[in-house]
Amino acid sequence: MSLTSFDTVMRREEFIEGERHVHRAVVGFRTGSGNALVRNDGGVVSTLELFRRRAVPLLAAGRIERHRWLLAFWLLGGAAIGLFSLACAALGFNLIPAALVLLLVVIFLALFDSCISSVFFSVLAVGCLNFWFVGPLHTFIIGSRHDLATLIVFLLSSLFAACLIRLVHSLGVSEREQASLLDLTSDAVFVRDADDIITYWNRGAEELYGWSRHEAIGKVAHELLKTRFQVSLLEINDALRRSGRWEGELIRTTRTGRRISVSSRWSYRLNDRRNSVGTLECNTDISERKRTEDELNRSQAAYLAEAQKLSNTGSFGWNLSTGELFWSGETFRIFGVEEGATPSMALVLERTHPDDLAVVRDLLVKAHADRRDFRHEHRLLMPNGDVKHVRVVARCDFGSKNSPQFVGAVMDITAQKEAYAKLEKSEQRYRYLFDRMPIALWQLNASNLVAQFKQLRSEGVTDLDAYFDENPAFLRSCMEAMIFEEANERGVQMFGGRGADEFKGRSVVGTFEESSATFRRAMVSRYQRNTNFEEETKMVTLDGRIVDVLFTTARVGFSKDPDTSLVGVLDISARVEAERRLQQVQAEFAHAARLSVLGELTASIAHEINQPLAAIANAGAAGLRWINRPKPDLDEVRDSLTSMLHDAKRAAELIGRIRAMANGKPPERTQLDLDEVIQEALQFLRHEIQARSAIVTHEKSRQPLVIAGDRTQVHQVIVNLAINALQAPRPQQSNPQIVVRSGTSARNRAVFTIEDNGAGINPCHANRLFESFFTTKETGMGMGLRICKSIVEAHGGEITADTVSSIGGACFSVNLPIVPA
Ligand code: ADP
Repeated sequence: MSLTSFDTVMRREEFIEGERHVHRAVVGFRTGSGNALVRNDGGVVSTLELFRRRAVPLLAAGRIERHRWLLAFWLLGGAAIGLFSLACAALGFNLIPAALVLLLVVIFLALFDSCISSVFFSVLAVGCLNFWFVGPLHTFIIGSRHDLATLIVFLLSSLFAACLIRLVHSLGVSEREQASLLDLTSDAVFVRDADDIITYWNRGAEELYGWSRHEAIGKVAHELLKTRFQVSLLEINDALRRSGRWEGELIRTTRTGRRISVSSRWSYRLNDRRNSVGTLECNTDISERKRTEDELNRSQAAYLAEAQKLSNTGSFGWNLSTGELFWSGETFRIFGVEEGATPSMALVLERTHPDDLAVVRDLLVKAHADRRDFRHEHRLLMPNGDVKHVRVVARCDFGSKNSPQFVGAVMDITAQKEAYAKLEKSEQRYRYLFDRMPIALWQLNASNLVAQFKQLRSEGVTDLDAYFDENPAFLRSCMEAMIFEEANERGVQMFGGRGADEFKGRSVVGTFEESSATFRRAMVSRYQRNTNFEEETKMVTLDGRIVDVLFTTARVGFSKDPDTSLVGVLDISARVEAERRLQQVQAEFAHAARLSVLGELTASIAHEINQPLAAIANAGAAGLRWINRPKPDLDEVRDSLTSMLHDAKRAAELIGRIRAMANGKPPERTQLDLDEVIQEALQFLRHEIQARSAIVTHEKSRQPLVIAGDRTQVHQVIVNLAINALQAPRPQQSNPQIVVRSGTSARNRAVFTIEDNGAGINPCHANRLFESFFTTKETGMGMGLRICKSIVEAHGGEITADTVSSIGGACFSVNLPIVPA
């Protein structure tokens, strides 16, 4: 056995050096004078460095030791030879017996040192023999030829014997040293003979397997170590016979019963005739590595399972010879089968959706027969009624000729399918919207425009508006760069096309013939990267019509699809026409309103003038009657004429006030005693009151109520309310009764009420009483209360109608601000 590298004799050592506990690696190697131990103090050092650091000093020290030892050995050996020679002489031995004794001494000494020492001792022995046993005695002269021959034979014999002894001795030492070198390796090395009996067992083997050298040697190796092979012993022997070597992994049991994995390298030990006499085994403990590998495999398996779970993809194997199926955990989950159950084709078909069953069955039969890779999507119907979509991909693996199999993956694509269906639906919805929207929609290809804009930007143009001013032709170039791609039904119809194809490939030049300003603004907006643009404009249709439209454009996204522009065009011709009409109607209406105001004014004048005119007429008639008497009563005539003048003056005043009111002029303000004004108003009505035999009561305020107002207008209010009270419907026999009260309210305002004994106010009419032209009377004008409200409010007061009256009819209340005394 020879050592081929330092690694094979490297061993770890632990020892106490001074006060330090040292761990060190020891490397053994051979030198000319024997084996040396070299210490590696840690770290990786080269062999040469090891030799330089440790071996050279050791060897130097060894040479000094050797010289001393050699000197002592030679002295002792020389003394022994001398003593033995003297003893032989004393005993009277002649040359031959003495030579034999000294030969034995030289041979003995040869056991302790090299051949050089043997030569030295042989020569010394010859000298002693010559001195004491060859005549003439006690001289170094050799008297006879016979003695000379004897001495030469002795010298040669002793040299030969000593060299032989040295050779045998050194061979034995070498064998032992080499064997002990194997103890330096941490590998377990042992030798088995042809019958598997252990013949050598190194220290590494003792440490690894636990048996000492003496316990192991002589035992049957595989029985002792309970070896478990991962390949058959036959295969191993085959390899050994072929190459003399085998390398592999074994499982063995140590003395403590622990199972370990070893990496084993076997070499045949051959005899001279190259027949195997045994096997050298070199074993390394790889249990730790195996455990790490197993853990790694386990974690890789866990990662794989997790990855399968995350990707909803299970794996499977289908052995075509046996029909066996192998499923991964995720495949079990996809098929909704408890892990651990035996997967089978029957189970696969049972889970397949009934509508897909025939196709799947055909596919499996075909796959089995053709052994071709396949890929298929179908549905599964789960026991709870859920439907799953799966994609199955399989590859036929002919790796093992005897049992070809499909290896594949099954992916749960339900979520993908649903997402795709949703996408499709949304796409359809969009398509439907695009096609059916009652708005003309166009998709324009703006890639050329984008290129032109890019060019402008690179030239540093930032203000496109100014650029258009400087380069008027560029606007047309932009129009030509916008190309129709698609148009919806409404778009085709609105623009008088025969079909969507008529638009495809056209530029928008013709369309914007009448609205280039709009197009220009749209381009500026686009250049400024605005996402939307909207403007009302006019567009030219394919058949030459000009339509009023609301033009809107949306850029799909500058970053995602800058080349596409969506244009929406809403036909607003009807609205524009309606607006035109509306404007016309509004003008007409304004005219009508002016007429209406005029009508209201006329009605007011007519209403208010009615009463003084009636009074004038009455006074005129009375005057005529007095004058036509046989004896005219001129005083009465004078009275009538005075009344007539007075009423005519009042009528003129009324007209003046109404006109002023209509013109929005504020009423004239003078301080008025309210009760005085009420008294005057009732005076105007004296003829009416008399004619209707009405009973009018005026309950005055206890203290004078001074208000600021226009006397004529306040008269009008009281006269109108009183006339309404006189005219209120009532049973035929009853006379009209009116109560006028004045006083102050809780808010310290002047209040007067006019109550009557009529039928009162119909609650249904309560909200409308003060509207212009609202009347329930056949000959009414519906202006009285309206005029009252205007006058009262102009004086900062309020007028209200109440259905509850102390004398049974209506009750109108007016409150006005009091002028402080
Ligand atoms: P006109 O007297 O011409 O009808 P008014 O504006 O003075 O116009 O009155 C509007 C309506 O209010 C009357 O037609 C009547 O129905 C109702 N009305 C006004 N005063 C009274 C009242 N004292 N009693 C009952 N109804 C009244």
